[in-house]
Order: sequence, then structure tokens, then C-alpha cells
Amino acid sequence: MAEKQTALSVALEQLEIAAERLKLDSGMHEILQRPRRSLIVSITVKMDNGEVHTFTGCRVQHNDARGPFKGGIRYHPCVTFDEVTALAMLMTWKCAVVDIPYGGAKGGVCCNPKKMSKGELERLTRRYTSLILDFIGPYRDVPAPDVYTDAQTMAWIMDTYSQMKGYSIPESATGKPISVGGSEGREEATSFGVMICTREAAKHLGMKLKGARVAVQGYGTVGSNAAKIAYDMGCKIVAVSDSAGGIYCANGFNPYKIYEHKSKTGSVLNYKGCKNITNEELLETKCDILIPAALENQITKRNANKIKAKLVTEGANGPTTPEADRILREKKIVLVPDILANSGGVTTSYFEWVQNLTREHWTLEEVNRKLENKVTKAFNDVYSLSQKEEDDMRTAALLLGVGRVSEAIKTLGLWP
Ligand code: NAD
Repeated sequence: MAEKQTALSVALEQLEIAAERLKLDSGMHEILQRPRRSLIVSITVKMDNGEVHTFTGCRVQHNDARGPFKGGIRYHPCVTFDEVTALAMLMTWKCAVVDIPYGGAKGGVCCNPKKMSKGELERLTRRYTSLILDFIGPYRDVPAPDVYTDAQTMAWIMDTYSQMKGYSIPESATGKPISVGGSEGREEATSFGVMICTREAAKHLGMKLKGARVAVQGYGTVGSNAAKIAYDMGCKIVAVSDSAGGIYCANGFNPYKIYEHKSKTGSVLNYKGCKNITNEELLETKCDILIPAALENQITKRNANKIKAKLVTEGANGPTTPEADRILREKKIVLVPDILANSGGVTTSYFEWVQNLTREHWTLEEVNRKLENKVTKAFNDVYSLSQKEEDDMRTAALLLGVGRVSEAIKTLGLWP
């Protein structure tokens, strides 16, 4: 297969492997290959300079057999409809793997948030929400943050939804600020899940986390928090990067200080005592644990052979191509796949939704205890299946996720 794969071709290839192994009939395979519903919208926004600009956005709902659609919203200049479709499909498997009662969806707006003011982003978000309003809702489809969207974006979505309905509906979006119904622990939840999986995988590898050398690609919500939690667990953070490039220091550094440096300067580059490196070099860094936490298709046929980590935990969605998967497997590098490794985010989003629906607010300890139980169980389910099937954890996670979703579809039956 040609290496230039898209996120959608990768997702479909993964589904095909699972469908074949689960012996799904062609009718079921066809249901799972396609989103249930997709909406493309044109979002017209008045920019600060008085000009009017129209952005393209979409919301893709893949499958809701196990519960309401759920998924993040991504703002990125390269976002495409196919990419959002692939990410919606991954969300369906992820919710099934971690066993929460949601289906999978994703949204995207093609824009460059780094070049937009806060006011422009607010107007874009509110207009986008109004255009997808009939598609979403607490029992229909619940948005959450993703790349270049955050708690503030979710507050605008919730407020727009509530204003249009005429009363406050905090359960209409998750990942909100705590002041408007957000959950304790949501900001760090994806990274906490990433590190729970890393900890469990390290146990099986006989690797001690204390002193383990960690490299993290991407220094946003997932990457920066994963680096901080890994550091708190005793790991040595030797390399991190963002879209501008990366830094390396053999003796390790304090990721909290790097976060402050990035907040002041806009990137992790040029931190004292560290060497600037490229994103390619970061992936090939000599380390024990590699956490890709940026975008898709980062570990490919081109660089998989040069990866030196013993364990790769996928914080990002789809960072490894199937070709690279095969190479890592041959090199006996253990990989904890995205649909398991980063499931902590949607799990705490689910906890936020439950808290909003019941008008409760749980403590951080309660949220994290529940999260740890859920993700540890999901890890053990996937790990046991991979041992039973004598296959890697990606295949095992897909067998578990796709298997649970197809079972739900069969049980519901076909209407009419
Ligand atoms: P974010 O916008 O907070 O951060 C993205 C980071 O990636 C930024 O530091 C950016 O500089 C960096 N980046 C962008 N392009 C890069 C490149 N080419 N090379 C290296 N770094 C690059 O986004 P996030 O929420 O942290 O999401 C990161 C990944 O995790 C995405 O794949 C997302 O789908 C996935 N994810 C996020 C969550 C969540 O709760 N936020 C949950 C599950 C999965």
C-alpha cells in the first residue's frame, strides 16, 4: 500500500482488519464504514477589520448504537471532511473500548485560530454552533474540545445552545470551565489516562517508571499535561516539541518550567540548557517512552525504523500509520493505541455529563478514582485480549471496540 495515507484510509484499513478477524458480514462492515450522518456548514463571520469571511465546518456522527454521539471539535487550517470522518469513527471504537455509553462523532472548522482574535473565535464558534444546533444536544450529540479548541470554546458552545433553547443546558457540551459546570480533572484527564496506560504497560515490560526517559511530541493540552504527570511519577523528561520544533536535554528538565516558558514565548524552543531539535529528531530520540501527542500520521514507514523507545503511548489520535505499526511490531516496540491510551478524556467528559444531568459536582479525588478504575480496566481488557489472540494491542483494542459496537447494532435490530 502507498505510504501517503490519509486519516480516513488508515481508519478504514484498521476497520477492515477488525471486520475480517471478527468475521463480520459485509452488511455490518458497510454500516461501520460510513458515518450515520454528516453535515457541512458555511460559517460566515465578521472579522475585526470589518471584512466578512466564510469558513467551512462540519460535524460528522459515525455511530450511536451504544449511546448519544460524542466527540471533539477541531479548529485547524488543514482540517478536512475526511479527517473529521476518520476521527468520528475512532471515537466510536474508543467509547466502546473504555465502555462508556456513547457513540462517536467529531467536528471541525477549517481556520487558523493562531491568526484570529478572541472575539473572532467567539463569533465563529457561536455561528458554527447555531448551524449545527439541530444536530447536537445532551441526548443527541455532545461536543468536547480537541486541537486548538479549549474550555472557553466549550463555554461559548454551551451558552449559544442554551440561549437558543431559552434555558441553561450545561450538559450540552463537556470540557467546560468549572465555573459553568465543568468537571474537576477534565483538563488533565486525557493525559492522566495516557500515563495510567503507560504505567500498566511498563509493568508488563518490567520497566520502572522512576528514571524512565520520556519524549513527548506536542505541547498542548495532552502533551504538556502528560509530561507533567510523567515527571510527577518519577520519569525523566528528555525531549518535548510543538509545531515550531522541539528541545532535548539528556539530563532531563522540569516540564512545568517548559510550560511557563511556552506560555511566555509561544513555543518550547530556546529553553536554557536544552538543544533545539526538529520534530523528526524528537520522534527518533533515545528514550524509553515516546508519547506522540500532536497530530495524525507522525510515525510512518519513513521513520518507524529509527524509533528507539521501548514503549509508545499514543496521546494523539492516529499518530501511527499501519505500515509503521508493522515495523514497530517487528522491532518488538510495545504500542498502546490511541483508542485506549487517550480514552481518559472522553471518560471524564462522560463524568462531566453525568454530573451536569444530575446537578452534582464531584471532587477531584472522586473523578480521578473513577477514571483510574475505568482506564485500568480497559487496559487490562485490551491487554488480556492481545495475549489471548497473540496479537498487538492495536488489533486487540479494535477487536474489542468494533466487536462491542457491532454487537449493539445486532441487538437493536434494523428499523423499519
Ligand atoms: P492542542 O491544540 O492543545 O495541542 C496540540 C499541540 O500539538 C500544540 O502544542 C501544537 O503546537 C502541537 N503541534 C501541532 N502540529 C504539530 C506538528 N506538526 N509537530 C509537533 N507538534 C505539533 O491539542 P490537544 O487537545 O492536546 O490534542 C492533541 C492530540 O490529542 C490530537 O490528536 C487530539 O485529537 C488528541 N486528543 C485530545 C484530547 C483532549 O482531551 N484534548 C482527547 C483525546 C485525544
